[in-house]
Amino acid sequence: MSQRHDTAVVATIAGVAVDTRHWIGGRRVASPATFPDTSPIDGSPLTEVARGGAHEAAAAVTAAQAAFPSWSATSREERARILHAIADGVENRIEELAAVETADNGALLRSHRRGVMPRVAHNFRFFADWLLSLAHEDFETRGHTNRISWDPAGVCALITPWNAPLMLATWKVAPALAAGNTVVLKPAEWSPLTASLLADIAAEAGLPSGVLNVVQGYGEEVGSALVSDPRVARISFTGSVPTARHIAGAAAANLVPVSLELGGKSPLLVFADSDLDLAVELAVEQYDNAGQVCLAGTRLLVESSVAEEFTQRFIVKAAALQQGDPRDEATDIGPNIHPDHFARIDGFVQRALATGARAVIGGGPNTELGGLYYRPTLLTDVAPDTEIVTEEVFGPVLTLQTFDTDEEAVALANGTRFGLAATVVTGDSERARRITEQLVAGTVWVNCFFVRDLQAPFGGARQSGIGREGGTWSFDFYCDVKNTVTAPKGWQHHG
Ligand code: NAD
Repeated sequence: MSQRHDTAVVATIAGVAVDTRHWIGGRRVASPATFPDTSPIDGSPLTEVARGGAHEAAAAVTAAQAAFPSWSATSREERARILHAIADGVENRIEELAAVETADNGALLRSHRRGVMPRVAHNFRFFADWLLSLAHEDFETRGHTNRISWDPAGVCALITPWNAPLMLATWKVAPALAAGNTVVLKPAEWSPLTASLLADIAAEAGLPSGVLNVVQGYGEEVGSALVSDPRVARISFTGSVPTARHIAGAAAANLVPVSLELGGKSPLLVFADSDLDLAVELAVEQYDNAGQVCLAGTRLLVESSVAEEFTQRFIVKAAALQQGDPRDEATDIGPNIHPDHFARIDGFVQRALATGARAVIGGGPNTELGGLYYRPTLLTDVAPDTEIVTEEVFGPVLTLQTFDTDEEAVALANGTRFGLAATVVTGDSERARRITEQLVAGTVWVNCFFVRDLQAPFGGARQSGIGREGGTWSFDFYCDVKNTVTAPKGWQHHG
């Protein structure tokens, strides 16, 4: 369909034309109502976006259902070819995608350009290639051959958060499409724009109409309607624990497999035998994306004997971080996403300070910059079991607690209801092995952080999630895995 550059529906964001309507069945579809999208950089209004509801969710599922027979019957090679073409489209538009994402969610432009958007393209390439190699060796049972296959499941409802919008969306879209499913994506209402650009790119790459649909709007409206639709075969959600409860409820009602990637309160353990410069470097890295990273090791657990030295070096390193406009190359920490979220972050910090915590650095908004810029904060003297050490803040706020023994370290590390990730810094490989075996977490890093490979399983223990995605785990989730047992020729069945 040719696009009308109508100002009511196509906004110009950072010089890029972004259609703010839904993308359903290969057509742009408006809604009677819209919602405002503002930039966290300076609070300026960006655009109005179509505000979908039950009607749009149902229409998108209908379109996805109609496209399913043909897409699921498309050869693996052809699906992989189109996914690579989408990756090409992403690579051709890295600058545009990066600029729009930064305007919309406030994360660093340089990291969008050099890290995030290339990874978005890689998501498509990786799952295209993995599809082509996806196989399980046949095996025999009393002469019968067992053949394992991955059959497309149907329409997938994908619901994603605002902290890494296109990265997290494509992490689901790519395997779901590779597997032969059709998709309805509902991006977060605080950063809805790059999902719309993805729809354009996919269409240009030759993805047939209806295979990828994007609906815009609030979670309680269009999101809730989407996950409740009985025609949906899979629900994959990344977001917060309270929303996950609603989504799991909808999945339960229809008995639909659901993947939940949720929050965290991950520990970063620093043992006295560690390289302290490395430990400090890894600790300061936890302020990345203004602390809005699900995997962030926000609880620094440091062996008492080196705690003072660690803290002094941390202060020096953190003081060098530049806070400011995320479009500026020199900036290390940008704004947080939204005034409501900003107030929530500050609420956690002020309540902690009121109950005896001490801010070694930060402790409040950056009043020089104003707006949504929160000072990188490190809190010590935090009371055990208070919300600042048990709840996810999702801002540039770290706590520091000390321990004296390995047992104490493990007990502190495992002491929340979450289990997404953990980082261990130690110079002793035997200790590393012992400690990592005892940690409750989906991903554990030793002397490193954020080394991620799409082949690896990704997910959380406890309330950090249900299920694993990545490599074959993604296909296991997005497919009906089938075993076909064939009798040998001439075999007589005797019951
Ligand atoms: P959120 O739960 O508020 O929203 C996530 C998405 O769910 C949004 O698109 C929202 O519109 C939608 N939604 C809200 N209510 C809904 C409903 N009733 N039905 C259907 N959809 C609904 O989360 P958020 O604030 O956008 O994201 C931050 C959270 O995401 C943090 O807790 C963070 O840790 C988590 N997160 C987890 C991972 C991971 O992989 N484990 C990655 C990134 C973020």
